[in-house]
Amino acid sequence: MIPDFYRRWLYFDFEERWETRRCAECEQASAAIPLPERFSRETKCCTYFPFLPNFTLGNLIEQGKKNASLKLRLVHGFSHGRVTPLGVFPPPEYESRRGQWGSEAFGRRLELLCPFFQRTHGLCSIWNERPGVCSSYICRSTYGERGQELKRALEAYLNLFEWTLAHETLWRLGYTQDDIRLMERLRAEVVWRPEKVWGEWFEREEEFFTKAFHAAREVQSVEIDELMGEEGARLKAKIRDFLATPAASYGRVLPP
Ligand code: SF4
Ligand code: SF4
Repeated sequence: MIPDFYRRWLYFDFEERWETRRCAECEQASAAIPLPERFSRETKCCTYFPFLPNFTLGNLIEQGKKNASLKLRLVHGFSHGRVTPLGVFPPPEYESRRGQWGSEAFGRRLELLCPFFQRTHGLCSIWNERPGVCSSYICRSTYGERGQELKRALEAYLNLFEWTLAHETLWRLGYTQDDIRLMERLRAEVVWRPEKVWGEWFEREEEFFTKAFHAAREVQSVEIDELMGEEGARLKAKIRDFLATPAASYGRVLPP
């Protein structure tokens, strides 16, 4: 389900169509699933390091002021990723290992575990603010192929939204296209140089993200629609079309 705090910019009524999976008792990691397909109980489907946009980080930092364990989890996530004014990204070595190990590693390799996964509880520590790539993940579609299509459209839409709003936030904070190009180039370098990426905000990153969260909140939903352009409108129409079609017209449950 889409994070609640996204509702100030986007709204889709999924309530009747989205059955929340019981991740605490993950079926995919249960003995009922044959071994080659079974997920590890230690990772479940969280063998993925998602991009978290600047405005989400600002929101989490605000919440972390009243929640010590969330604060610790954020510090952990920051120390494992490449943190730039656009947000937090997986480091290049993580990406290359993921590419090398391929889809077999998904749901299985502990080395790929997301830094926001809380191993003591076996659950996501940022569930209500998890990004689009995670919130649109459907591990079992009760709407056949159409459900999988919805997943792809929703994931693409949320990725576009996050990328667009993270950029718009930077423009509003005075960054230029050249500044962003430079930070993206530095992010891909083998040697990580955060002082170059952050400039005057170096070692004041949390303060920056809080500011980014407040700047993003000023962006209106109509402005986001405009910024997301034709691709955003196409994906939105596809999602709305799915929601407007009676559930009974969909196919069988697809096995995981
Ligand atoms: S979303 Fe992931 S953790 Fe939750 S039930 Fe599905 S595979 Fe398991
Ligand atoms: S952010 Fe949460 S849901 Fe997404 S991969 Fe990490 S632990 Fe899993």
